[in-house]
Amino acid sequence: MRRAAGGVNGRSDIAVIGLGAMGAAALSALARAGADVTGFERYDSPHELGSSHGESRLVRQAYAEGERYLALARRSAALWQTLNAETGAEIYTECGVHYAAPAGARLTRDVVRAAQAAGLPVRTGDGLPGADLIVCPSGHERVFEAEAGLARPEAAIAAWLSRAREAGARAAMRTPVRHISRTPDGFTLALDDGPVLARRVIVTAGGWTGDLAAPLRARLTLQRRVMTWFADPDGLHGPENLPAFVIEAEGGWYYGAPAIGPDGVKIGRHHGDEPCAHPDQLDRRPGPSDADGIADLARSAFPGLGPMTRQSACFYTMSPDEDFILSFGELDPDMAVVAGLSGHGFKFAPAIGEALAAWALDETPSVDLSVFALARFG
Ligand SMILES: Cc1cc2nc3c(=O)[nH]c(=O)nc-3n(C[C@H](O)[C@H](O)[C@H](O)COP(=O)(O)OP(=O)(O)OC[C@H]3O[C@@H](n4cnc5c(N)ncnc54)[C@H](O)[C@@H]3O)c2cc1C
Repeated sequence: MRRAAGGVNGRSDIAVIGLGAMGAAALSALARAGADVTGFERYDSPHELGSSHGESRLVRQAYAEGERYLALARRSAALWQTLNAETGAEIYTECGVHYAAPAGARLTRDVVRAAQAAGLPVRTGDGLPGADLIVCPSGHERVFEAEAGLARPEAAIAAWLSRAREAGARAAMRTPVRHISRTPDGFTLALDDGPVLARRVIVTAGGWTGDLAAPLRARLTLQRRVMTWFADPDGLHGPENLPAFVIEAEGGWYYGAPAIGPDGVKIGRHHGDEPCAHPDQLDRRPGPSDADGIADLARSAFPGLGPMTRQSACFYTMSPDEDFILSFGELDPDMAVVAGLSGHGFKFAPAIGEALAAWALDETPSVDLSVFALARFG
């Protein structure tokens, strides 16, 4: 596709609104495919005000959340490896994921079931990687998934943005899109310093999606979550010894990542109910009570860890059924929206970015994502 002239105050064939994980991945895929594309970001990405910060995100393939994710997980796993190879940076670390849960619990059962469905190698029983560092009550079941690990969100976003710019994309930072309106041949995006025209629009605005795509406002709810780090005084909890982990306790999931930075091991709580009306109203000052449950788990399951070193607030953008909303041309034939990633979307960013680029360029996507259409809600 021929690149058109134009920039922020002009015209772009394709506009990507929101340059967090999904938008940055899409911008990179589009630019590298030769598209005339401009990304718009209200802050300076990567940043700590959305849902893609905090040093690490788990990357899993034996997807307990359901078989409908398996093809997307497989494609993303391949693209994480490609990103590492092409950047020469360790953005994805394949340290494996160690799952532990009370006997008969949903987590370990569903991981094994997903691994069987996808033909992925998982191990159970004694002597799994990380078993000597993760203490569980007797009777707990453990599963180890080797072709999994963690990705570094800030590094991934920076790499996608840098690759996008190298391939000719424009990435306009501190440039909020205030409104999108339809024109006969595309859209007008209202910016603070004037309008921009685009033929196709991709909305990847995370928790702010309802501000731009009104039909989604009632479908999306936000849930505050706080990530907590614990010191690794003996330096034993790095990814060479400790895999990423998911532990089922008190009927919910706790997850975490080995020490990959000075703050030590990260632990977060996936379950819970901390609603928030809008990202701009999120309480971003974590307090001691935010570590309730997490600190108990750190003490009981990781006796080798030291005191809490850091906390960081973030939020999930939930869909009604906790499955993704990947909407291609449903609200408008020339608009795609990614939303409602429900606290488990990051690992899929490479494949979702690729799929958004394929849609915008009228190409066949490598993974069929129709199961995630908005139409499922009727
Ligand atoms: C604590 C926590 C832990 C998680 N752990 C995992 C995990 O282990 N594995 C996993 O796969 N997933 C995980 N997730 C989920 C995952 O991180 C998110 O699903 C994913 O990062 C969301 O990416 P996004 O691009 O949709 O949103 P964001 O990264 O928030 O990006 C949206 C962007 O849009 C911008 N924006 C909004 N409105 C506008 C506008 N009007 N104009 C311009 N720009 C705009 C925002 O500034 C932001 O940069 C976790 C999430 C949290 C909060």
